[in-house]
Amino acid sequence: MSTIFSKIIAGDIPADIVYQDELVTAFRDINPQAPTHILIVPNKEIATVNELSEEDERVAGRLLLVAKKLAAQEGIAEDGYRLMINCNAHGGQEVFHVHMHLLGGRPLGPMLMRR
Ligand code: 5GP
Repeated sequence: MSTIFSKIIAGDIPADIVYQDELVTAFRDINPQAPTHILIVPNKEIATVNELSEEDERVAGRLLLVAKKLAAQEGIAEDGYRLMINCNAHGGQEVFHVHMHLLGGRPLGPMLMRR
């Protein structure tokens, strides 16, 4: 069964894709939490960071480099931004296909919700 993100990557369901190469695809989050909210996703289905293996080193690095490139493209590099990857229940992961959130365009506040 393929994930909702695999369907977006394959072009089977629509999304605002802002970047795509042979390893990763980036598209705008459907429910943005900040003026810029982009998801950067491996084209290969990897459920969580726990399933990353040595052979995924290139794709893992590419997520970060594409985030940097898109931050510049969005005009938020100088003011700053946040990169986030949620894992499993305590991380609040909802879609089980690894993705990096690129958030910015306003001050984002403390890193974690206060308890
Ligand atoms: P997670 O909580 O797993 O780290 O984040 C999942 C993110 O995917 C959420 O921010 C959610 O808004 C986004 N999302 C879920 N379904 C879709 C979709 O069909 N299209 C897009 N563009 N984003 C989605």
